[in-house]
Amino acid sequence: MITARVVDAAQRLGGQPAYLYDLPALDAHAAAVRQALGGIELYYAAKANPDPRLLEVLAPHVDGFEVSSGGEFAHVRDLFPRARLALGGPGKTDAELGLDPYRLHVESPAELRRLKRLGVEADVLLRLNLDVEVAGASLTMSGPFGMDPSAVAECLPLFDERVRLRGVHAHLASGLEAAQLLELAAEIARHHPKEVNVGGGMAVSYTDPGHRFDWEAYGKGLAALKRPDQVLRVEPGRALTAYCGYYATRVLDVKRTRGERFAILQGGTHHLRTPVTKGHDQPFTPIPARVGREEPTTLVGQLCTPKDVFARRVPIALEAGDLVVFEMAGAYAWNISHHDFLMHPKPGFVYLD
Ligand SMILES: *Cc1c(COP(=O)(O)O)cnc(C)c1O
Repeated sequence: MITARVVDAAQRLGGQPAYLYDLPALDAHAAAVRQALGGIELYYAAKANPDPRLLEVLAPHVDGFEVSSGGEFAHVRDLFPRARLALGGPGKTDAELGLDPYRLHVESPAELRRLKRLGVEADVLLRLNLDVEVAGASLTMSGPFGMDPSAVAECLPLFDERVRLRGVHAHLASGLEAAQLLELAAEIARHHPKEVNVGGGMAVSYTDPGHRFDWEAYGKGLAALKRPDQVLRVEPGRALTAYCGYYATRVLDVKRTRGERFAILQGGTHHLRTPVTKGHDQPFTPIPARVGREEPTTLVGQLCTPKDVFARRVPIALEAGDLVVFEMAGAYAWNISHHDFLMHPKPGFVYLD
């Protein structure tokens, strides 16, 4: 998984915690996804990682960006003044409703009424809350997200020439494989002829980093669903940027406490919170690779909390001073971490280009 360029960059850092982004790898991946999707529109969900350098690499490959707040809207608009933006999110302020996105994803009848009272113009997709079982999803977006059929029915008479209904939006779950997403997309596309955004949530496996979402199958399947006059759109986040990011650091201490071996790393989950939020072991490569004397080892950070864990009981030989490069740290990583907890220094940022 890890390339010689990334190893080389990590070694040059000398163990100082840093994010490494492999921009050519992101470029190649985004080009392959674009190619596989053919005539299906591709938006990138900026909340997965809004780093401007990554957005610049993605921009030529996408038809637009999905933004989930006024902050993300301003950030992306600033970088790409002419890009198409789709603005969503379950609780929008009047100020956010007054922005002028290409598409506004409306989440409730009350929100639509408020939009009309503001007197602004808008091109709306209604976000659906579908009554479907999503087996195997890592996070399902039911609850407060979107609208059930009765709420959708309440919205329909409210549209006019200023607040226009363009279609529907449905981001249902995260961690779904192509076949599962296609089943859901088929359901939505059948009922809604004009414009359909079937969301993101394409599976990324942290336990099996080599396993990749089948973009070819998804692209073919969506092409088969799409009617000639219909716009079909997807808005992945994680599956686009997860793989291009690495978090590199070093081992400060190795100790044994009551029979369990711990490697204590510089940095911690205040830099890379992904394994805690997802409840997985973050995949990593140790440098050097020490063969022999492997022993179950728990990799932790510098925070004074037992939750500061990157990976548990991984059979490995690590020594103080060794480098550890965590993989799949390009999405929901730095930007979801609690940076200021304990006031340790921030990591560095290195962009391989
Ligand atoms: C977070 C989010 C996405 C992206 O989800 P991924 O799992 O990162 O692909 C897309 N659409 C909406 C509405 C979201 O909230």
